[in-house]
Amino acid sequence: METTLPDFLPPSPLRLKLDLEALAANWRALDRMSGAARAGAAVKADAYGLGAALAVPALAAAGCRDWFVAHWQEVPELLRHVPAAQVSVLHGPMNAAEAAFGVETGVRPVLNSLEQVRRWRSAGGGACDVMVDTGMSRLGLRLADLGDTALAGLEIDCVLSHLASADEDVPQNEAQRARFAEVRAALPGRRYSLANSAGIALGDAYHADLTRPGIALYGGIPRAAMERDIRQVAYPEAAVIQVRNLLPGDKVGYNATFTADRPIRAGIVAVGYADGYLRCWSGKGLFRFGDDVLPVLGRVSMDMTIVDLDSAPHCTEGDWLSIAYDPVSAAKVSGLSQYELFTLLGRRFSRVG
Ligand SMILES: *Cc1c(COP(=O)(O)O)cnc(C)c1O
Repeated sequence: METTLPDFLPPSPLRLKLDLEALAANWRALDRMSGAARAGAAVKADAYGLGAALAVPALAAAGCRDWFVAHWQEVPELLRHVPAAQVSVLHGPMNAAEAAFGVETGVRPVLNSLEQVRRWRSAGGGACDVMVDTGMSRLGLRLADLGDTALAGLEIDCVLSHLASADEDVPQNEAQRARFAEVRAALPGRRYSLANSAGIALGDAYHADLTRPGIALYGGIPRAAMERDIRQVAYPEAAVIQVRNLLPGDKVGYNATFTADRPIRAGIVAVGYADGYLRCWSGKGLFRFGDDVLPVLGRVSMDMTIVDLDSAPHCTEGDWLSIAYDPVSAAKVSGLSQYELFTLLGRRFSRVG
């Protein structure tokens, strides 16, 4: 016998507040920075962990018309919000089922090898994108493949390549740009696309027809020059589930990595490494209650983190704390990349716009 559930579920003690206006403004800024090219959006991994269900409609309302996911399993969520002809799947068809799914939905595969090209054609084919590797040794056809007869007459919407180091000033960027110019001459497509978020800041020579920002849409700053125009989008918050008064000598958390050296009002907060708040924040992370700053005490555990409430005497059980998560400084303090900070945020956060 299955238990009959009440028609309500108590709200989560974790919420991820999304500033959807900032998200839309970031897309418009990146579209503007893309010059003559249009900006699309990389929305793989559930819009970098922020939640495609909220992010995609907001980006569509801002004007975005080109969407990139990595897996075919990510397509149904996208199709709830945007037309199939606007969606591309970066991993391409790995087998007949994935190719058939592409043909039936009208979603475009990004073809990454001659084998994928043949698989797509034998499934019935139709409009597709093609990825060419210009120097990253990840997915994509080699330049030497571009004359292959398997490509003749293929209905290519967009020819893509991906920059490996656009967040740095290194000669690899110009080398990839130059190889992409060779790709353009060798492979006919309706459109061409090279730049990710950081690549947009490299200037017009990198913009082609379509740019594919991801991280900067969500508030990440891959290059310092973007700081002015990109706003924070993701604000994680967690509730205090218990307050306790520590005495000098009390040990805190697993392995007692912190011992109280004075009386401390401590808050037990309902977030832990299972939610993506990893152990690298142990003894380093900060929470905020209004303007009061609350340092993490001891080790982060799976479902809980202990914070010092001394600067927030009015903070009590049930109150919400914001987790200091400004992408640039959070990355610096934690040692995680801005990409990891976003995509880690777990399923137990309720996502609110
Ligand atoms: C993830 C991804 C992007 C977006 O990159 P950001 O650095 O997040 O802007 C663009 N293109 C491809 C092929 C990707 O895999």
